[in-house]
Amino acid sequence: MAIRYTDTTDDDLREAAALSEQSRGARHIVRADEPGEDDSQEVNLRPRLLKEFLGQEAVKANLSVFIDAARTRGEPLDHLFLIGPPGLGKTTLAEVAANELGADFKVTSAPALDKPKDLAGILSTITPGTVFFIDEIHRLKPVIEEMLYVVMEDFELDWVIGQGAAARTVRIPIPHFTLVGATTKAGMVSKPLQTRFGIIQRFNFYTPAELSLIIKRSAGLLGCSVDDDAALLMASCSRGTPRVTNRIVRRMRDFAQVYGDGRITKSIVEAGLGKLRIDSLGLEDFDRDIIRAVIEKFGGGPVGCETLAISLGESADTLEDYYEPYLIQCGLLQRTPRGRIATQKAYDHLGIKAGPGASSFLPGLFG
Ligand code: ADP
Repeated sequence: MAIRYTDTTDDDLREAAALSEQSRGARHIVRADEPGEDDSQEVNLRPRLLKEFLGQEAVKANLSVFIDAARTRGEPLDHLFLIGPPGLGKTTLAEVAANELGADFKVTSAPALDKPKDLAGILSTITPGTVFFIDEIHRLKPVIEEMLYVVMEDFELDWVIGQGAAARTVRIPIPHFTLVGATTKAGMVSKPLQTRFGIIQRFNFYTPAELSLIIKRSAGLLGCSVDDDAALLMASCSRGTPRVTNRIVRRMRDFAQVYGDGRITKSIVEAGLGKLRIDSLGLEDFDRDIIRAVIEKFGGGPVGCETLAISLGESADTLEDYYEPYLIQCGLLQRTPRGRIATQKAYDHLGIKAGPGASSFLPGLFG
């Protein structure tokens, strides 16, 4: 195939722009990790500025310096790589950065970038300084990843036009922008891609104190008041994750309206968590099913993630990305080279005595 680089013509640009018209201004996030998320309300709770983004102090402090410096120089922020479990605020922080810089924000996820034209279509809509967020960046197809290398470094897109002997490559200039890549699995992102990000930040689970602040803010935005001890109880059952926190706040607001006077009190939260079958560690039914499966079906482990996922009728990806990090963080599950193992704490939490045929009961539920 004859490939030659030519000067870009308006027609070339128009072709690239037309490639994926549907991606213009798109917010097409594909998420496997937020079952039942109530997006219409979630939008209202999403922080817009750094001062509204609570917790993750180390990440925030660094980012605020880099944003200030970029703003002072009148340059886009360097490419940013965000690592951490789902629901901790990676998308939110990327949008906050765009807002702080007064830049456009575009968001997609790697599985939505199926063909080169999907990426080209979005790039053709980029304006100077745009913050372009790609979620689940570890799932990029190799062909898309290679396109990104040139775009990230040279702010040019190599685009092949025509086929066979008539094929030619045009180099289309792209305005300088910031790519934000987010992943739950940094180990699965290739080194060449990782090294093209100038800023790398890792998110940790939030502390109950940080989540309490988020609860107070969210409750305020939702127009309801919440007692301090109620906020702390919700926080301690939120898996260290603001997305979970916000879901719990909304449900407790419902319980408070129907069973109380609208104020979220500790007794409302205890009753509400019991009804939602959320236990004292913040585990829901499926979390308990996972540990129970390891213990009862696989003798406490080790069991491979794929096998465990099949036995539960869930995808290995969802198990690994969404459920496991918190179970490991709680010390209920251990990830070893030979597979997953249930810890003594897991047996204790489920009230299962070690050994075959031991009976169990459901502990820790409120209400
Ligand atoms: P991720 O991209 O890491 O999966 P998101 O950015 O989508 O997570 O965050 C999920 C939700 O949690 C957001 O819609 C937002 O309302 C809330 N949230 C996340 N981080 C914070 C924070 N630091 N302060 C307040 N709310 C937050």
